[in-house]
Amino acid sequence: MAKKFLNYIGGEWVEPSTGKYFQNRNPANWNQIVGLFPDSGVQDARRAVRSAARGFEVWSKTPAPLRGEVLKAAGDLLVKNKEKIARVMTQEMGKVLDETRGDVQEGIDTAYYAAIEGRRLFGHTVPSELRDKWAMTYRRPIGICGLITPFNFPMAIPTWKMFPALVCGNSVIFKPSHDVPRTATMLVEILLEAGLPQEAVQLVHGYGRVVGEALVHHPSVPVISFTGSTATGSVIGETCGRVHKRLSLEMGGKNAQIVMDDADLDLALEGVLWGAFGTAGQRCTATSRLIVHKKVHNRFLRMVCDAAEKLRLGDGLEASTDVGPLIHEDARNKVKQYVRIGQEEGASLEVGGKVPRGARLGKGWFYRPTVFAGVKPRSRLEQEEIFGPVLSVIQVRSLDEAIKVNNDVVYGLSSSIYTRDVRGAFKAMTELATGISYINAPTIGAEAHLPFGGVKQTGNGHREGGWEVYDFYTETKVLYVDYSGRLQRAQIDTYE
Ligand code: NAD
Repeated sequence: MAKKFLNYIGGEWVEPSTGKYFQNRNPANWNQIVGLFPDSGVQDARRAVRSAARGFEVWSKTPAPLRGEVLKAAGDLLVKNKEKIARVMTQEMGKVLDETRGDVQEGIDTAYYAAIEGRRLFGHTVPSELRDKWAMTYRRPIGICGLITPFNFPMAIPTWKMFPALVCGNSVIFKPSHDVPRTATMLVEILLEAGLPQEAVQLVHGYGRVVGEALVHHPSVPVISFTGSTATGSVIGETCGRVHKRLSLEMGGKNAQIVMDDADLDLALEGVLWGAFGTAGQRCTATSRLIVHKKVHNRFLRMVCDAAEKLRLGDGLEASTDVGPLIHEDARNKVKQYVRIGQEEGASLEVGGKVPRGARLGKGWFYRPTVFAGVKPRSRLEQEEIFGPVLSVIQVRSLDEAIKVNNDVVYGLSSSIYTRDVRGAFKAMTELATGISYINAPTIGAEAHLPFGGVKQTGNGHREGGWEVYDFYTETKVLYVDYSGRLQRAQIDTYE
């Protein structure tokens, strides 16, 4: 019998009000059940909100440096448990162990950054227009933050939201993806062990259409931070807009790597393999388009196809594995569907395009790394997010054309260019319409202390990570102290 896991609501581990559980299975071997997790109902979300309101009372009054110390302790516990968490994460999510270790490391870096921020949380002190008067700002916590996260970074993305929200003095309700509930449970266990007051965090497992929506609609949750698909983000955005919630959206991508005719092709090859097929293409920053200058197109295409064919699929726990499975059957069906679409659109399937055969991979959601050439700009294959190991190669004649193709999609998360020409690199840096651009590095590889996010339909103007996220989780309060002993009227009285 598989182990049953619980929600964390009201300061205790509890069964869901529905009495129902869902199975979490290993995507590399669907016979292996990772655990049974609460299929929670709206009642559970509402209970979590009542408890988080009490948690906010306690936690928001705790001095920020002490809040930071809890985050420091959480970082230390992540360090101690890194290997254990990474292994469990690979079992429930599928990506290879090196990548799940990196996912935990991102959480560790985010914890230590947040810990220090507890001693900063700067406001401004500025001169007043008037005599004998001070003017300054400070940052207040907002209240309960509803955090809704996707499956592909089970540790990093929740910590990007939770740690800054907490160090700023908010309480949080965590609704993880139902595809990765085990890692989410470990994260909450670690926060509690680190000394977080019991009701400052709530964990409500379950489905987005029930628990997620309940949080988004609840009037006592003033902040929603969501990472996931653009389709889901649009639904959440409409609701939050109507009820005036503060909302951070991090959504889909259709990222490109540009390879110019003067590029170091061996370096560009390593970059595109890692960018396109790492995490089986299930990264928001994954390279799903390769834009290549025609002078090196045929040669580079051959290099990419030869290398992609050699990538070894398998269980992410095995050291020989390069690429793990997709997260579930629907995800693999979506990849199959886009391979059909690509063929119908006349793109040339060069490598992959099939489910691997054989007993070793027969019980997982594997798909061969796939390369299409001759992909036309503005075709569906070139425009739409697939979220799988499918790379579309587009040939261009100039840097201007490469930038145009890169920018001509609705998304704008990440981009990359391989070139030795400093003028071309700077032109690309300024003209690529994405939140992040890499020069001579793949489209993936964000660092925890820099802002992360995208433009156009990838985001709504906020950033995770770095210093910017602390603005999202606080309200700026302005303070005026008039010690003149008389009525002074700003904008009306003169400066004498
Ligand atoms: P998803 O949109 O299916 O689900 C994300 C989360 O939203 C889950 O927790 C889900 O339960 C919840 N949800 C679903 N419907 C909801 C609703 N109506 N109301 C409230 N919550 C709801 O995404 P996914 O498949 O888990 O993740 C893949 C997507 O995430 C891709 O599009 C990828 O590009 C995107 N992503 C973006 C970033 C980024 O930073 N831009 C990072 C990682 C993933």
